[in-house]
Amino acid sequence: MGNDGGSFAERAELVKLKKPEKRVESLLVAKQRAQFCSLTKEKLRKPIACCRIGYLYNYDSLLKAFMEKKIPQEFKHLQNLKKIKKLNITENPDQNNEFPFVCLFSQKSLNGKEKFQALWTCGCVFYKKLIKDLKIKGLKCPICTKPYTEKDIVQLCPTNEEAEIKKAQLYKEIELKEKQKKDQKKQLKVSDAVNNLELQQKKKVCTEEQKFKGQTMEDNKLQNHTQDLKNNEIYQSLFHQQHKLEDNLFTRNVRFGNR
Ligand SMILES: [Zn+2]
Repeated sequence: MGNDGGSFAERAELVKLKKPEKRVESLLVAKQRAQFCSLTKEKLRKPIACCRIGYLYNYDSLLKAFMEKKIPQEFKHLQNLKKIKKLNITENPDQNNEFPFVCLFSQKSLNGKEKFQALWTCGCVFYKKLIKDLKIKGLKCPICTKPYTEKDIVQLCPTNEEAEIKKAQLYKEIELKEKQKKDQKKQLKVSDAVNNLELQQKKKVCTEEQKFKGQTMEDNKLQNHTQDLKNNEIYQSLFHQQHKLEDNLFTRNVRFGNR
C-alpha cells in the first residue's frame, strides 16, 4: 500500500508545500527583525546598532546589557563593543508606518523583504540596489563616499537560513581566534620556561665562577704571603751574613791593630 505511485505523488506534494511555507516563515522573521530589537524585542528606535550577522539592536539597550553582562548565550558573537556597529540610518518620514527606517536616497523602507546593506566602515545603511541605480564605480559608500571592502558589507535583517550561515562563519572565526590565542599562550609559557632555565643555568655558572675566583684569590694571597715570608727569610739570612762578615772584619782588624 505504501509503495504505490500514489504515495510517492503525495510525498512529492508535501515537499512542494513545505518550501513556500518555509519561505513565508523566513520572510516573517526578517520582517520582525526590521521592526524590533533582536536582543530586547522592543520596537526599534534610534540610535541603532547592528552586528555582523545583520541583526538590528537598540544601541542603548545593547550597551546596558554589555554593562550588566547580560548578553544571552545565543548572542555569544557579541563578545565586546567592537563586535557591534552604530548605524547611520534614516528614520521613516511616515511615523505611522510599521517600518521605522528607510533608505536615505531611494526612500525604500527597510521591511525585511527588500535587501538592505550596512557598511562596517562608516555605519551607513542603504537599499542594496542603490549602488547599481546610482552607477557608483568602485567600493565607495553611496551615502558618505567613504571607501570600503567586500568584508565590510553586512546584509541587514537576514532570514533564518541566512543568519545560520553567517553565524556558522562567525563562530568558526571566533573559535579560530581563540585557538590562536591559546597556542600563543602555550608558546609564551614554553619560552618562559626556557628563559627561566637559561637564567638559572647562568646564575649557577656565575656562582661557580665567583667561587672559583674567590678560591684563586685566596690561593694568590697564600702564595703572596709565602713569597713574602721567603723574601723575609732571604733578607734575614743576607742581613745575618752581612753582620757575620762585618764581625769577622772587626775581629781581624782588632787582632792586627788596625783599629
Ligand atoms: Zn557611509
